[in-house]
Amino acid sequence: MNLSVASKRNSLFTASLLLAAIFSSGSIASAAAQQPRVADGFSTDWANLKIDVRELAPHVYLLHGSGGNTVASIGPDGTLLVDSEFAQVAPKLTDALQKLGAGPVRYVVSTHYHSDHTGANAAYHKDGAVIVAQENCRLRMMQTQFSQFWNRSSPPAPAESLPTLTFDRKLTLFLNGEEIGAFHNQPAHTDGDAIVYFHHANVIHMGDVFVNNLYPYIDLGAKGRIDGYFPVIDEVLERIDDHTQVVPGHGPIATKQELKAYRDMLHTVRDRVAAQIAQNKSLEEILSSHPTREFDRQYATDRVGGDGFTVMVYQSLTGKRLDWHPAS
Ligand SMILES: [Zn+2]
Repeated sequence: MNLSVASKRNSLFTASLLLAAIFSSGSIASAAAQQPRVADGFSTDWANLKIDVRELAPHVYLLHGSGGNTVASIGPDGTLLVDSEFAQVAPKLTDALQKLGAGPVRYVVSTHYHSDHTGANAAYHKDGAVIVAQENCRLRMMQTQFSQFWNRSSPPAPAESLPTLTFDRKLTLFLNGEEIGAFHNQPAHTDGDAIVYFHHANVIHMGDVFVNNLYPYIDLGAKGRIDGYFPVIDEVLERIDDHTQVVPGHGPIATKQELKAYRDMLHTVRDRVAAQIAQNKSLEEILSSHPTREFDRQYATDRVGGDGFTVMVYQSLTGKRLDWHPAS
């Protein structure tokens, strides 16, 4: 099945509780034993999980099973992955890569610390892969993280899954005739976000700075901030062109124009909330003005919703931390 079709369905179906699970990788494993088809928005039916594969360019593939999107460079120099899915997906991901003729995974680049993007790092590291990430991603993975929004903690990641090569602002890898640039502009989704650009294939992986057809989850506990999204996305928009395939952390691939529309949506909502904060409006008043109104049809497809996004923007701009949680 064409991945964009599968992912579009995913973004409406499994994304119902999409981002809650990133703080509960441990509980996903135990929930799977009780056989729910979908927990917290992610499929946990590991045995029957299918990996959707799509060729984006010669030697460059998009793979998706349950968690975040994975991009793979496959060629004579070995295999590089951008993001590695949940730990439980590793065997199926490896099978899918082998069907594509992939050699050993030599590098895994993690776009940020959340376990739906880093869970299978350990499996590839054990087989010899270098795990690459922004330095704050490694620090986050070493600590217990708490999300006030979801009211959940995530334990430190297993030591074998930690990045073994970190960078501050940028790092370039040359592999399979490709120039693969990872860069960090400033905190947005988390303080350890990396954007990964395949120059020749003209493919860019945004991590969760861009989630297509979803409102973003701003990980305030990991120093994420709404005002970081704009310089990061603007840097991406400057680097790419109308032919670039933009891979979001979740959801179907997008064009430059679709990424720009996402950025403009974020900015419109941010400005509406900021204007009301300047007028000393309360959060209740701001919520009742419904700052996301015309966007909800496209983006309010999971538990974050228009109100959740508004509350995160409000907290990001005011520095307040509220005991507000999305309805379950
Ligand atoms: Zn994330």
